[in-house]
Amino acid sequence: MKECKKDAKLETKCLHAGYTPKNGDPRQIPIVQSTTYCFDSTQHIADLFDMPTEPMYSRFANPTCDAVEKKIAALEGGVGAMLCSSGQAANMLAILNVCSAGDSFISVSSIYGGSVNLFAVTLKRFGIECIWVDINATEDEIAAAFKQNTKCIFGETLANPALTVFDIEKFANVAHANHVPLIVDNTFCTPILCRPFEFGCDIVTHSTTKYMDGHAIQGGGIIVDSGKFNWAASGKFPDFVQPDESYHGISYTESFGEMAYIIKARMQLMRDFGCYMAAHSAFLLNMGLETLAVRMPQYCKNALTVAKWLTENDMVESVSYPGLESDPYHDLAMKYMPDGCSGVISFVIKGGRETAMHFMDSLELASNVVHVADIRTCVLHPASETHRQLTDEQLVAAGINAGMIRLSVGLENVNDIIADLKQAFDKTRA
Ligand SMILES: *Cc1c(COP(=O)(O)O)cnc(C)c1O
Repeated sequence: MKECKKDAKLETKCLHAGYTPKNGDPRQIPIVQSTTYCFDSTQHIADLFDMPTEPMYSRFANPTCDAVEKKIAALEGGVGAMLCSSGQAANMLAILNVCSAGDSFISVSSIYGGSVNLFAVTLKRFGIECIWVDINATEDEIAAAFKQNTKCIFGETLANPALTVFDIEKFANVAHANHVPLIVDNTFCTPILCRPFEFGCDIVTHSTTKYMDGHAIQGGGIIVDSGKFNWAASGKFPDFVQPDESYHGISYTESFGEMAYIIKARMQLMRDFGCYMAAHSAFLLNMGLETLAVRMPQYCKNALTVAKWLTENDMVESVSYPGLESDPYHDLAMKYMPDGCSGVISFVIKGGRETAMHFMDSLELASNVVHVADIRTCVLHPASETHRQLTDEQLVAAGINAGMIRLSVGLENVNDIIADLKQAFDKTRA
């Protein structure tokens, strides 16, 4: 077989990129269930420590993971990628690769709650300051938030659970004017709906636990490098340019060129933190990726139908879904994700916390789970579950209404999904 073409369409890349069987090879990606690899000479292994072109130990690289990394890099249009054990690990390493103690970075406040904790609490303990800016800040306001020690900007294409749309070009402009990269968590869109590199983003991260896996099977994360950021020219990243004494005195920019960021992440951070993805998990993730391009448009179609139906329901106070023309983020969504806005909807039920819980308990088809972006419809009540430590006043400050329900629309027939919602509204109303 021939390698998947660079300009192949997304559907084709989902099936063929990353792994090309040679004569007699297995059709499906083999699971290389081995921690280590045999070599005939000590010198060969020594050479691999200098230039990691082949797997030598599965914490650094594994052939099954390598195939999946190449597939996701191809889908995003990047030069390289690194799988991690979770989305949390991916975001942590993506930031730590550019920030050290004494540095700061800018993040919009409308992002996933786990990332808020990581940035506001744990990275702070590492001596890294997160400067929060509003997602609707102007270029001048973002620029004003910069400090001498600010090393990157972070945002989420489509925020979980607020469903705000991140203006990638706006933030990329300010990041580049200040000689730092833009990092975007593209979990909810996946490269099928949005490819942030096309709009000037430099590094993409994902929780592959969500749509990429898609089947609620296995947690994972990935960092993808566009290869476009010029670390040497920036002048703000001496540890990309100067010899790394912990890695045979290598200069990442000199030795690895456009792969400097992703190889540094692997050879420094994965080496030291060890939060890598197991081969079997990568194999399962690949099964999800094979159908990603077919699944995403159907989630979008089902969710838009459900979102429209919810807006017409007398028990619903408000619906957030950027696919709706009435949504404040609709115009940005049309620019960045014209083919659809994923399957996730947030809506506020009239009557607050008690009514929301009653409604959730009345559902028969949708599952009540701490998860999102599954192939099956699922719901979550932030006020009593993920954000239960907050008082009602704190919830309002965090932009979460006590009656807010996050509905992740799955691939069941949309009429069955609506029928389930309807019977739950009826029971709640009674
Ligand atoms: C779930 C999620 C994460 C964290 O991913 P895990 O795989 O659960 O660690 C990060 N970012 C976004 C947008 C998410 O939805």
